[in-house]
Amino acid sequence: MVKTKRVLILGGTDQGWQLAAQAATIPELEVFFSLAGRTRQPMIPIIQTRIGGFGGMTGLRDYLQQEKIDFLINATHPFASRISQNAAIAAESLMMPYLRLLRPAWQKSEQDNWIEVESYEAAVSVLSPLAQRVFLSIGRQELAIFSTLPDHWFLMRMVEPPSPASCPQGKVILERGPFNLAQERSLLKTYKIEVIVSKNSGGNATYPKILAARELGIPVIMVQRPELERGETVAEIEEAMTWLKNKLEKD
Ligand code: NAP
Repeated sequence: MVKTKRVLILGGTDQGWQLAAQAATIPELEVFFSLAGRTRQPMIPIIQTRIGGFGGMTGLRDYLQQEKIDFLINATHPFASRISQNAAIAAESLMMPYLRLLRPAWQKSEQDNWIEVESYEAAVSVLSPLAQRVFLSIGRQELAIFSTLPDHWFLMRMVEPPSPASCPQGKVILERGPFNLAQERSLLKTYKIEVIVSKNSGGNATYPKILAARELGIPVIMVQRPELERGETVAEIEEAMTWLKNKLEKD
C-alpha cells in the first residue's frame, strides 16, 4: 500500500519509541522519529530515525515543511521544555495537528515525605540545612548548581558520564533504568542516604526509588514539572494511537 500521510514523533522516552513502533504498523502512515542524541545508545525502533537538534523552532518548522509532515507528536520527557515549546509553536504556525504524549506525574501518598519545589535552585536552598548525604537523582544536566554545597556528599546516577567540572563531590553511578525496589532499597542503605532529590518524571522505570524512600522514611525533594505548553495532551500510547487513526480518517 502507498503511504499517504507522514507523522513526526519527537522521542526521548520509552513511551516515544513504543508509540513509534506501534504507529509504524499503520499501513497508510509513514513514521519519522527524532532523538536529541544525548545518550550514546538510544533505543531506536526499526523506522527512519534522525538524531540531533533541528536548530530551534524555525529549524523544526523548516524540517516539518521540507519532509511534508502531516502530524506532529511530541513524546519527549516531561522536563524537555525547550523542544516542547518549539514543537507546539511550530505546529501552530503551520496549522498542523499536534499532540503531546505526556505520562502522568507521580502523586504524593500520605506515607510520603515530599518537599515539593519549583526549581533546582529551590531544591538547593531546601537541601542546605536538611541533610548531608544526598541521592541526586536528576540526570546529568543540572548537576553544577549543587556544587554550591561543598559540605554535602552526593550519590549521582545517570546514563552517560557527566562533565567532571559540573559535578559536586560524591560518587557517580552510570546505569540505565528500570530499577526495582530491592535494588533501590539496597542503594539507599549502602550509601546511607538521608535525602533524595528527584524530578517528578512520572512513569514506572524510576518510581521504585520513591517507594524505597517511603519505606525507609527518607524525605524526597521533588522538583515539579515545567509548565505545560499549549495543545492537546494524552497520557497513554493507546490514546495517541486513537488520535492518529482519527486524524487519518478525517484527512
Ligand atoms: P530540551 O531542553 O527541551 O531540549 C534541548 C534541545 O535538544 C532542543 O532545543 C532541541 O534542539 C534538542 N532536542 C530535544 N529533544 C529532541 C528530539 N526528540 N529530537 C531532536 N532534537 C531534540 O530537552 P532536554 O531536557 O535537554 O532533553 C533532551 C532529550 O532527552 C529530550 O528528547 C528528552 O525527551 C530526553 N530526556 C530528557 C530528560 C530530562 O530530564 N530532561 C530525561 C530523559 C530523557 P534544537 O533547538 O536545536 O531543535
